Amino acid sequence: MSAIRKVRRLREAFRALDVDEKRGIITAYNERFLFIPTKLIHAIEDRLSESFGPATATSFEYEIGREGGVQYMRIAEKAGFKFRNFQDLSSVAERLGTLAGWGKVMVHEFDPEKKTVSMRWTDGVSVRNKRGNLPVCHFGRGILTGAMETVFGTACDSLEVKCQGKGDAYCEAIIGAPEEISRLANGLGS
Ligand SMILES: [Zn+2]
Repeated sequence: MSAIRKVRRLREAFRALDVDEKRGIITAYNERFLFIPTKLIHAIEDRLSESFGPATATSFEYEIGREGGVQYMRIAEKAGFKFRNFQDLSSVAERLGTLAGWGKVMVHEFDPEKKTVSMRWTDGVSVRNKRGNLPVCHFGRGILTGAMETVFGTACDSLEVKCQGKGDAYCEAIIGAPEEISRLANGLGS
């Protein structure tokens, strides 16, 4: 994509943003948003991990993210975005991902028949260093999973197969029907 087109698309995304100084609120696509520091997300992650252990914290973050993903897609639907094909989905990921500051989100593969999708992103909010042994983007993966549940109209599960938090060049999650994902997870484990 040309640099000019990129700037134009970005501008289009930010045009949706409205700051009401009188009321002290920010809206986009007629929904209220919050500007929160990334460190607040980190504080939530740390607190959950300290109080409940890393495994439970992971599942909390994932489930909370998933609810967020459903909400994002509700907003996207109201704003007139469609999710029929690869192109539609790419444009939602690009516009909403960028607008909300979640990082650069891209649809890598989309199989509407099998109901699976592979999403890639960089600069996820949960990546604090590149030295971990396990993927760290539980919120982000949750958001994408919730979003895809709306698109596929069915319960989904997901796996983060690559993560910048463990030194990979980008993060990548495979999202799809739970049985498809557990088949994949078993395949990776063996
Ligand atoms: Zn990641």
